[in-house]
Amino acid sequence: MAEKTTDARFLSSAADRCVMCGLCLPHCPTYRLCNRESESPRGRIALIRALASGELPPTPRLMEHLDHCLVCRACERACPAEVPYGELIDTARALLAQEGRAEDPSSGPDRLLNDVTRLQRWRPLLRFYQGSGIQRMARALRAPEKMGVGLLERLLPPLPRNPRWHRHYPATGNQRGRVALFTGCTGRALDGATLQAAIRILSLLGYSVTLPDTQTCCGALHLHAGAPEDARRLAIANLAAFENEEVDAVIHVTSGCGIHLMEYPRLPGLTRTERQRAKRFAKKVFEISQFIETSTWPAALDPLPLKSTAAVHIPCSLQQPGHHPEYTFSLLRRIPDLELTPLPDNALCCGAAGDYLLRHPDTARALLTPKLDALEALQAPLLITANIGCALHFRAALQEEKRPVEVLHPVTLLARQLPEPTDLPSRGQAHKMRGTPQ
Ligand code: SF4
Ligand code: SF4
Repeated sequence: MAEKTTDARFLSSAADRCVMCGLCLPHCPTYRLCNRESESPRGRIALIRALASGELPPTPRLMEHLDHCLVCRACERACPAEVPYGELIDTARALLAQEGRAEDPSSGPDRLLNDVTRLQRWRPLLRFYQGSGIQRMARALRAPEKMGVGLLERLLPPLPRNPRWHRHYPATGNQRGRVALFTGCTGRALDGATLQAAIRILSLLGYSVTLPDTQTCCGALHLHAGAPEDARRLAIANLAAFENEEVDAVIHVTSGCGIHLMEYPRLPGLTRTERQRAKRFAKKVFEISQFIETSTWPAALDPLPLKSTAAVHIPCSLQQPGHHPEYTFSLLRRIPDLELTPLPDNALCCGAAGDYLLRHPDTARALLTPKLDALEALQAPLLITANIGCALHFRAALQEEKRPVEVLHPVTLLARQLPEPTDLPSRGQAHKMRGTPQ
């Protein structure tokens, strides 16, 4: 690390922007938990600066402090000096991982990331496990815990029969535009209901929807785990998958992936041409709630009333610049009688944070607990979140505590409340509700 590579120079100059004011500290979930400087953004930046200059060696303890960071970037949003904390921690992890890999090329995180990107392939086997009674028997014998996969097994939602995915879905009525849907590695495998809801609503609004076959994992987990070359490879595959589609927008339904897609132009290691391609792609990326809410709605496409209360969790990724959590609320306000309440302390990470909930389950649970308590106080039977990782984290804990709260993506709830297409007016009756996203 003492040798001044380009990355080490970036680390030094970015870390030097920190004026040590400490304004970020109250926004940092790990600092709030343990009140230690080494678990704060300011502390981590100081450690990274010392690493980059060679003042400190990468001891296991130091690496642990960096590894405990959720990369929620709450500190970045609070920082008056505009320290690019996200890039700083990703670059530091990449440098440390290079050294770690040299010692152990088959290290755990690599294997986990490969497994995540292959979720879809594992799906039939997991469905058989859940549906055949084996899961019940295994849980009674605590077999998943004994095999060291207890948490992973609990996080897995019940997997329904996978719908037959098509490459192309036509618009309902006259077509007004074409969009492509980013499904991600977890979407098709674990959250088919949200994808189906998104396709249905987009189609009702007059968009044809394409699911490019060769799209793949967004690569966010890889970047945050210190594997930027893998992240770059996945990004290039996605650029190739989407850029040949003549679409007005690329829609994502998982904010954790979406923020990463929008930040493709900032990925390390891109050639100039690749960066240009990434910029063109990123301009087309929209979060589903924003896209739907800012589209023209057919005059009589009115959601049915729902007399219920929904607590709304806002994922960290949806709070990053370029994302708009307010659309989650305005979209759901279309449902008459539905009472919406933001979950208190939405600015603080729930602990899911990509694969953090698997790597640091105790911290992840400690961060989730106040949110579960707040949910209990609200007595809301519905919890809304636009990120699959947060949804899995909440759902597993609520199931464990046998609490009857349903965890849903906003578009899944909205789609449930929409009338069937036969009851809808023709596209000619469409009227403009708000500005279009393009
Ligand atoms: S990214 Fe989140 S956990 Fe990491 S230092 Fe910043 S606020 Fe703390
Ligand atoms: S708010 Fe910014 S400048 Fe202040 S300590 Fe935190 S990272 Fe450094």
